[in-house]
Amino acid sequence: MKRGAFILGVAMLVIGGYSFWWSMQSLFNMSFMDDWISWIFSLVVGTIFVSLGPGVMVWAYASSYQASYRQIAKQKQWQLVQLPLNCSECSKDISIQSLEWIGDQEARCPYCSNVLEVRINSGYR
Ligand SMILES: [Zn+2]
Repeated sequence: MKRGAFILGVAMLVIGGYSFWWSMQSLFNMSFMDDWISWIFSLVVGTIFVSLGPGVMVWAYASSYQASYRQIAKQKQWQLVQLPLNCSECSKDISIQSLEWIGDQEARCPYCSNVLEVRINSGYR
C-alpha cells in the first residue's frame, strides 16, 4: 500500500467535499455574489478533488498490489533446503525456525545441540 498516495486521496476527498459543501452553502444563501472568484474556485476544486480522490485511493491500492505481485513473479531461482524430520540424538521434531545454524550446510538441534546434516540445492521453480 502506497501510504502517501492513499492519504493524498483521502485528503483530496475531504478537502473537495468541504469546498463543494462550502460553495453549495454560499449558493443557497446568495453570499457567492460578494466573492464569486473564491466561489468558482472552491466549486472547481471541490468537483475535481471529489471526483479524483477515490481514483487516487484505488490507484494507490492497485499499484502497491501490482508491485508486490511483480516482485514475487520476478524470483525464479530458489534454494531447496532439506532438513531431517527428527533429531537423530533426541528424536525431537526439527523445524527450520528452531534451527541453530553453525555453517552453510550444518545446523544444531535446538534441544540437544546435536549437529544435524542439512542439504541445500539450488534450482528453478
Ligand atoms: Zn536433538
